[in-house]
Amino acid sequence: MSNPSLGTIACPTCATEGADVRQTKRRGAHLYWQCAECGLMQPTGAAIQGRLWRETDWHAGAQPIRPANVPQAVERGQKPDFDPSEAEPEGDAATEAQPTERPSAARGVGLLLLGALGLGVILATH
Ligand SMILES: [Zn+2]
Repeated sequence: MSNPSLGTIACPTCATEGADVRQTKRRGAHLYWQCAECGLMQPTGAAIQGRLWRETDWHAGAQPIRPANVPQAVERGQKPDFDPSEAEPEGDAATEAQPTERPSAARGVGLLLLGALGLGVILATH
């Protein structure tokens, strides 16, 4: 059941470097990561999926599929070395296209996850 590693990222939860980024073959094509500290992390929210899409240091030749809930306006992270044909955007386009997401959100993601957990508890108790 293991999918191939597509790249690495500093763990969005604990910032440990070198977490392996992989992608599910299931519907939604969500990215997930294997952190040495946190274990297998597979949150599927649009914010974290967009962040993985932008921030993963993709292996050369990796062909990740854009997760279903990541808007096309979100640019993929560092391009593989052998493919210089796609020009990087100037940066302002990406920030305009996603006003609800903040780029420096290790803490924000944690709060989002906590919020989602809290919401689940609230829903479960009613
Ligand atoms: Zn971690």
